[in-house]
Amino acid sequence: MTDATQPSGTPAPIPGQMGPVAMIKAEGLTAVFCGVMALTVVYFAVALSLGIAPLLLVGVFAAGVFYWTFLEYLLHRFVLHWEPEQPVLKAVRKCFPGHRAHHNKPSRFREDGLHMLKFFTWPSLFGVFFFWGVFAYAGFEPALPLGLAFTAGIQIGYLLYEFTHSACHFMPMKWAYAAHLKRHHAIHHHRDETVNYGVTTSIWDVAFRTTWKGRPKAAA
Ligand SMILES: [Zn+2]
Ligand SMILES: [Zn+2]
Repeated sequence: MTDATQPSGTPAPIPGQMGPVAMIKAEGLTAVFCGVMALTVVYFAVALSLGIAPLLLVGVFAAGVFYWTFLEYLLHRFVLHWEPEQPVLKAVRKCFPGHRAHHNKPSRFREDGLHMLKFFTWPSLFGVFFFWGVFAYAGFEPALPLGLAFTAGIQIGYLLYEFTHSACHFMPMKWAYAAHLKRHHAIHHHRDETVNYGVTTSIWDVAFRTTWKGRPKAAA
C-alpha cells in the first residue's frame, strides 16, 4: 500500500501510481481534453443536423478511431523519431513536436496542453475539409457529415493516445490489456527505440514487424 499524501503540503504525485484525474492535471492535458471534446460535440451536432443516420455516424466515427491508431504508429515512427542531421531538415523538424526530451526523461510531466491544443485544432479543421473531399470524390453521401464523423473519430483516437501514453508512465495499469500496453511502451523506452511504436494498440507493430523480439526480462 502506498500513500501519496504527505502529512503537510500538497499531495506528492508518484509516477506509476497516479489516478487519472491527477495525471491529466499534472500532464497539462485538461485544456486539450476539454477542447477536443467540445470540438467533437460540435462535429456530431452539425453532422446530425445535416441529416446523417445516427448508426452511420457511429460506424464512421469508430472507423476514424481505428484510422487514428494507424496515424499514431506512422507519426511516432516517422515524425517523432525523425532526427535529421542536415541544417535545412533540422529546421523543418522544428515545425513538429519534439520527442527526444520525453525519451531522455520519461518521468517528467509535459505540462504543454495549451500548446498541444493549438497544434491540434487546425489539423482537425483541415481534416474535416479533407475527408469531406475524400468522401465526395469516392461518391459517398452525405459527404460533409461523413467527414465530420470520421474526423471526430480521429480526434477522439488522439485523446485516447494522449491518455494511454500518460497512463503508461504515471498510472499502475495492472489489468490485462493495460498491462500489455504499459510493458509494450516501456520496452520502446528502455530496451530499443526502434521497436514498439504503437501506444494505444500494438497491432501495427505486428503488421509492420517492429515488435520487440528480445527475451522477456523475467526469463531465466
Ligand atoms: Zn513515452
Ligand atoms: Zn518514442
